[in-house]
Amino acid sequence: MQRPNLTKIALVRVLGCKVNQAEAAAMAAILETKGFTVDSESKEPDLVLVNTCCVTAKAEGKSRRLINRLALEYPSALLVVTGCLAEINPEVGNSAHKSLVMGTFEKDRFATFLDAHSEDESRIVRKGASSCNTYGDLGSPAIPGRSRTFLKVQDGCSQRCTYCIVPIARGPSRSMPRSAVLERAAELDRSGYSEIVLTGIHLGCYGRDLDPSITLEDLLEDLLCEPGRTRYRLSSVEPQEITQRIIDLAANNSRICRHFHVPMQSADDSVLSRMARPYDSAFIRDLTRRILSEIPEACIGLDVMVGFPGEDDRSFENTRAMIEQSGAAYLHVFPFSPRPGTPAAKFGPRVASAVAARRVEELRTLSAKLRQTFHERFLGATLTAVAESEPDPVTGTLIARTDNYIPVRVVARHAEGLFQVKLQEITSEGSLGSVSAYTNAQSKKQNRRNPS
Ligand code: SF4
Repeated sequence: MQRPNLTKIALVRVLGCKVNQAEAAAMAAILETKGFTVDSESKEPDLVLVNTCCVTAKAEGKSRRLINRLALEYPSALLVVTGCLAEINPEVGNSAHKSLVMGTFEKDRFATFLDAHSEDESRIVRKGASSCNTYGDLGSPAIPGRSRTFLKVQDGCSQRCTYCIVPIARGPSRSMPRSAVLERAAELDRSGYSEIVLTGIHLGCYGRDLDPSITLEDLLEDLLCEPGRTRYRLSSVEPQEITQRIIDLAANNSRICRHFHVPMQSADDSVLSRMARPYDSAFIRDLTRRILSEIPEACIGLDVMVGFPGEDDRSFENTRAMIEQSGAAYLHVFPFSPRPGTPAAKFGPRVASAVAARRVEELRTLSAKLRQTFHERFLGATLTAVAESEPDPVTGTLIARTDNYIPVRVVARHAEGLFQVKLQEITSEGSLGSVSAYTNAQSKKQNRRNPS
């Protein structure tokens, strides 16, 4: 039954990384400017948008299953498919009666291609990610009631790690102009955000493509020079791009979170060289040591890929042993997933999936231990945190995230601003604590450096 065209409804689904999340939020905001109401619970959407991921075979499978399920569930809706899978396999939208599949170049120009699409036809618009040589800005909407948001400032990657499909799906590295980042950050600060997570596909390459070229640390310094109370968290930064200047900035400035998420992948030199990663295990050891000697309370998270072709027991043990010594606080562990079109898809010898699964389990168990040990170090300490959600209407509690990435469940009056939270108990979820102060910019500087 076609509803009178008063309120067009859009349903938005997203899979994958922080960049995909930020893009989906931006595309949802664009849909609203076009008269759609974005309603994730709608039973009768006019448009269904799926921002897909295909970084692993598992992620690709999830994206395909979601698209097929939504096409079946909402046969009369226009299915719009964007994201990395749409770029790699544009036929993915074929299961729908009417669909619009946008490649990476087109997604960056979402509004234009949506306007150009006549509702009842199915189309694939895809110029090819390699043609993306300028930054396509989807915008970064200010969502009311949120204290924390992602700001995508970079896209694509020009590195060529042998296992990675991302450069094929997203094209070369490109950056949002510096002035646009400063403007956007100021807008988000004025909108009351207390934390901005700077994100990108290869964030550490920020600014190299700009004229004049600048660096991520230049951008951070510029952001810190701007008036405002918002603090900044860096999403993943490649090991070789976590410079001493970035470590110094985080050590000496309360508006940079003491949190480093490092896609290390392996700590075995032979595996790293076959991955074409531009560093070795000695570099990682030195990096974690430099961070923790300058910022002992810093949280280091490591991405680790196990089961890369040729990874034998000894290489795995090299990685496991280095992690144990690294001072890392948590791990994100993934099994190698051969991706079509990448060199590593043809590498051998393959690691048996049962062996890879055992190694994943072993490192995830280690990660739980590292996390517990890290959280326990801050029992009784007071840290600065930001709300990740509104208080639960029943319990009055919410999860607040400290600058060094500890989740603390607290009873809170509201979700605005930054909190001083005292950690009282470590739980499997993270920790329990209490709010000792609702802070604003002025008091934050004093409190932060001397956890009581
Ligand atoms: S740096 Fe390597 S792993 Fe990261 S997106 Fe680029 S190619 Fe992929």
